[in-house]
Amino acid sequence: MLKSIEKLLRIVAIEANSGYANRTIIGGMEKYLPAWLEEAFKDAVPGELLTQIERFFHDYAGLDVAQRAAASRDLNRLLRGISNEEYGQGTEVAASVVEVPQQDAVEPVRQKHNQTAPQTAAPTSQPNIGLSAPLTILQGIGSVKSDLFKNLGVSRIEDLLYYFPRRYVDYSKLKTINRIEFGDELTVIATVQSLMTTSIPRKNQARVEVIVTDGTGFLRLVFFRSLKYIASFENHFRRGTQLAISGKVTMYLGRKQMNDPAFEQLDQTHLNTNRITPVYPLTAWLTQKDIRTAVNSAIQFYITRVQDYLPQQIRNETGLVDLGVALHQVHYPDTMELLGSARDRLAFDEIFLLQLGVQQQKSNWQANPAIKYAVSDDILTNILEHLPFALTNAQQNVIIDIRQDLDAGKPMNRLVQGDVGSGKTIIAAIASVIVNLNQGQTAFMAPTGILAEQHYETLNRVLVSEDDSLPLHPGEIRLLTGDTPAGVREEISAGLQDGTVKILIGTHALIEDPVKFKNLQLAVVDEQHRFGIAQRAALRQKGENPHLLVLSATPIPRSLALTLFGDLDISIIDEMPIGRQPVETRIIHPFDRDGAYQMINEEIKKGHQAFIIYPLIDKGEDEEQKAAVDDHGYLQKEIFSHLNLGLLHGRLAAEEKERVMNDFRNRKYDILVSTTVIEVGVDIPNATVMLIEGANRFGLAQLHQLRGRVGRGDDQAYCLLVPENEDALENERLAVMTETTNGFVLAEKDLEQRGPGDFIGYRQSGFADLRMASLTDIHLIEKARHYAQELIKTDPMLEKPENQLINRKLSSMWSYSQSDIS
Ligand code: ADP
Ligand code: MG
Repeated sequence: MLKSIEKLLRIVAIEANSGYANRTIIGGMEKYLPAWLEEAFKDAVPGELLTQIERFFHDYAGLDVAQRAAASRDLNRLLRGISNEEYGQGTEVAASVVEVPQQDAVEPVRQKHNQTAPQTAAPTSQPNIGLSAPLTILQGIGSVKSDLFKNLGVSRIEDLLYYFPRRYVDYSKLKTINRIEFGDELTVIATVQSLMTTSIPRKNQARVEVIVTDGTGFLRLVFFRSLKYIASFENHFRRGTQLAISGKVTMYLGRKQMNDPAFEQLDQTHLNTNRITPVYPLTAWLTQKDIRTAVNSAIQFYITRVQDYLPQQIRNETGLVDLGVALHQVHYPDTMELLGSARDRLAFDEIFLLQLGVQQQKSNWQANPAIKYAVSDDILTNILEHLPFALTNAQQNVIIDIRQDLDAGKPMNRLVQGDVGSGKTIIAAIASVIVNLNQGQTAFMAPTGILAEQHYETLNRVLVSEDDSLPLHPGEIRLLTGDTPAGVREEISAGLQDGTVKILIGTHALIEDPVKFKNLQLAVVDEQHRFGIAQRAALRQKGENPHLLVLSATPIPRSLALTLFGDLDISIIDEMPIGRQPVETRIIHPFDRDGAYQMINEEIKKGHQAFIIYPLIDKGEDEEQKAAVDDHGYLQKEIFSHLNLGLLHGRLAAEEKERVMNDFRNRKYDILVSTTVIEVGVDIPNATVMLIEGANRFGLAQLHQLRGRVGRGDDQAYCLLVPENEDALENERLAVMTETTNGFVLAEKDLEQRGPGDFIGYRQSGFADLRMASLTDIHLIEKARHYAQELIKTDPMLEKPENQLINRKLSSMWSYSQSDIS
């Protein structure tokens, strides 16, 4: 018998002799597990057995004496490999074992209970025990590694089960190089034959060409990497190294090639097992192997504890696989089909839970009364007459919606979606004034200081006058950001409490600051996708059932809108102010930058200004990308030495950002070199060129946002997209930008192409991430929505016993208090 098994039997025997009091091990049986597991691993105890043993330990404390006896008997039977019959009924466990093991944790036996175990008692299963255990419970994971896992957001066993692979290498479906074809997306196993690096000094990059062979043919791999890290990159390709290479086959001059394929050193074990092998997103110091091993043992020991919270009826009707099966197959799929079913199930869960939350929220929300606000046509007309433009029909319609909402006696809960530049700020201003005129206060939250400032100016312009020609007076609108000095804060705070401040505009500071309103009646959230649901809720909680108006410049595909904003009524501004010309969009080959610079020069000669946007602040670790700080210096010196170039990025202090923005607005700068800080809302009508470096790094929706920064005046504007390299596919993706200016079309495409993971920061929406759900799958969404609605209809608070598991799961998904999310 294996040493570790013997030892275990001894412990169990002692425990039996002490009447199953769970005192054999200090702190309870479970405490013995980690130490024992280590020995068991050394002994190579089969995994299946380990699972059961481990379950025994975990469950033990929760069982009563009779159940413990039964469980111990089962375990004995299992360990001794003897059948039920051979094992005499009622015989006490391992009574013959007398030796007391030399184990520190073992307390001397103190008392004897003479209780005999009822023979019928079976161990009750307590499936969720252990899933919340820290990773250190896994063999081979100590505190150092577990800290590294925390960088991945994984701290418990359950997190690990939900840490999904980024992709898979299908070792069961390998092709030899002579059989691969253009367009194939697959894995080949091949040996490095040669390596050639050509540097492109101006870009600080190198082109690395690797030729690999598997004896049937040759395949060329092409990478572009930063010069700085080229040596370590080259190390992967020592001659003779065996690699598993996954990517899409392209042709170059009639030869097979893969551009920037994923690769890893061949892991012989995977090849031998013919498995579909997961590839996980990594973090520094954790290897693929570390994660695979950890996930593997988590599955081995814990997957049986996963309890399916989805009611059987829904499972039957939808045909979805069991949660445990899904979580197993998503990591180590037996077939691609099973992987598909696993993903379906997990995707359903994500949307279903999201919908449950949203629907529950909606039903709570609608139960609350709200103060009615009406405004006379005269007052509105007066405000509108003071505007330098007439509202578009779409804007007018939204105002009609809002007036109805505010006068309905229920809290308004409206999302206004309108493309960049469609004019949403004025809508917020008007909603606000309706409330302000009746002693209500408004909180208006914007995602950045720059935007808050801009709104502050806009609202002052359209609502405030010294005389009584406009509804508000100077000082009634205030600005609060993270940089507002303490003295001013106090002043604002006093004004809010005595009601002299009518509108408070600001950033997160609005919810972080302990500011109190006298009577907050309207919460406006601009560019909501930047804020989490929790933040919306926090803002709303500054008042009592205030009305809520959410503005979004990001056109969101219907599927996504239904998913994320199922609780909101939606108005769409689908019309741009007249006189706007569509921005002319071009894709510029990286080698044609000079042409783009030429164009900027010409526009500036005409008195206009330009943006040059970078994906990064500075090169830092990632030398491959173009970066704002580095290029700002270069452009100012080498390309535009006759012009003034401003520099804006997120690391600048807020005052500095503001100064740069203002200087740009006041034309002190001809060109603003910036990161995407300027992405949202910034309004500089004189800018006519938007050049975007590393354009392939951005999603279409984000590019569309950036493009929306220009073309706000009357002159023709241009958007120039410069991808990092010549990769034809990326350019094809970008080509959509040249074909449409419709934000909704682009958003749909973006979702299709990049998947939900990248979609405009909606990850922050307050839920555990949607990692599986294909938000392009309107069927899935409608299905999940349907079941969620049905459930909420029959049990709004999820109080019924059969819904307890769901209820618990749901509460753990919301990052904010469940009773108030919106
Ligand atoms: P967004 O919807 O992106 O928030 P803004 O509210 O910032 O757009 O408006 C963009 C610009 O369009 C602003 O300069 C604003 O004054 C102007 N604007 C808004 N509505 C109209 C309109 N109906 N006609 C002309 N210009 C308008
Ligand atoms: Mg805006």
